[in-house]
Amino acid sequence: MHYISTRGGAPRADFDQVLTEALAPDGGLYLPETWPEPHDWSGFKGASFVEVGAEVLSIFAGDDMSKDEARALCEAAFATFRHPDVAPVEEIDGEQLLELFHGPTLAFKDVAMQLIARLFERSLARSGKSLNVIVATSGDTGGAAVSALAGREHLSITALHPHERISEVQRRFMTTSDAANVLNLAVEGTFDDCQAIVKQLFSERSFVADVSLGGVNSINWARITAQVTYYITAALSVGSGEVHFTVPTGNFGDIFAGYVAKRLGAPVGRLIIAVNENDILDRALRTGEYQKRGITPTISPSMDIEIASNFERMIFEALWRDSNRTAGLMRDLREEGTFVMDKALLATLRETFSSYRASEEEVSETIGSIHKASGELVDPHTAIGIAASRKARDEGLSGPIVTLATAHPAKFPAAVEAATGEKPDVPFPSEELFGREEKFRVVANDPAVVREAIRELNSAR
Ligand SMILES: *Cc1c(COP(=O)(O)O)cnc(C)c1O
Repeated sequence: MHYISTRGGAPRADFDQVLTEALAPDGGLYLPETWPEPHDWSGFKGASFVEVGAEVLSIFAGDDMSKDEARALCEAAFATFRHPDVAPVEEIDGEQLLELFHGPTLAFKDVAMQLIARLFERSLARSGKSLNVIVATSGDTGGAAVSALAGREHLSITALHPHERISEVQRRFMTTSDAANVLNLAVEGTFDDCQAIVKQLFSERSFVADVSLGGVNSINWARITAQVTYYITAALSVGSGEVHFTVPTGNFGDIFAGYVAKRLGAPVGRLIIAVNENDILDRALRTGEYQKRGITPTISPSMDIEIASNFERMIFEALWRDSNRTAGLMRDLREEGTFVMDKALLATLRETFSSYRASEEEVSETIGSIHKASGELVDPHTAIGIAASRKARDEGLSGPIVTLATAHPAKFPAAVEAATGEKPDVPFPSEELFGREEKFRVVANDPAVVREAIRELNSAR
């Protein structure tokens, strides 16, 4: 299997390259050069998460990876989950929830990170190279990355978080690792400052080459492929026909994995984009105009995003893979802060996608009403998904709808307690998180400081 860029200006790449490069050299995102033939997944009904995961992985890794090897990687990755089914579907207050929060850091990002950590290790062992991974986080990504990459061979992980701007639970998942290959930097600035530092360092060609800098953000193709698995297992477990999915959406990575599952022939029906007050995707799908307005902080911070990077992949597909037009729209966004989709493009998107927005009030109300009806707690991101599923059903969508539960309520205790009066507990002995010493260094908002810290870490290895 080979990969091409959405912007048409990069050489073909193989799976190993797209694993560590993330962004294509022309600034576009990687996609398979051709989509595989749709599979008949009916034989996988009742199959384990590992078995389906191995099938998906071997489709995208290509001839380079044997089926046994794919299975062994999946087995190791998903053994870190607390639930035997990895990602079970549970009914709460009449809603089918796909629980993606049983991994080490209680958020769905663990599914992909645990797998790509092992893919990195395999790839680096084969090439004899090493990698310094850097990640900027507003909360969940950093913890999932540190937890997955801590102690792995041939690589290090540097996580940048905005000092005193993330929750204690989120921070502790990053800072309580005692592995020597983990570096936590608390940047005196905002998440945007952290992200700007990462971008700056990636633009420094010689530094990138010197330390072999790598990324794990949500545009990484391998992360998306890892997420395809749960759409297939959930669709097969819930229905006998097509199943619709509602996805709490930020960067459009998770929901794009649903689209990939559909392309692979899985019985996936409509894909429903659920957003918070940062509703750029909902406005785009309703009006045709994708227009930046600035970010409003909400109680679902992992969805406070207005550049949904992976949407570029969907635009490229919906334009029948016209890379010139895709690149043109992305240029408009960069230069004007907006781009306009024509009728045909919009119609193609609407064939598969719907969208709904939830206000902050609706999010709290949803958390509260579910607690009242069932005694169960859901996190704010999941609540946005549930609110969207209910609106879709009210508007006449028939057939089963599965809502992705993207985080455990204990990850966002303040919002959950405010909505229900009940404080959610972490699903493991709390000393594991709160009884351990934290390790992080507070640094100035300055790329030079971070560059030196990574060089030091690199030479210490
Ligand atoms: C990252 C995240 C999302 C958004 O996922 P995208 O792939 O960026 O669309 C939703 N919910 C939670 C809890 C997250 O951590």
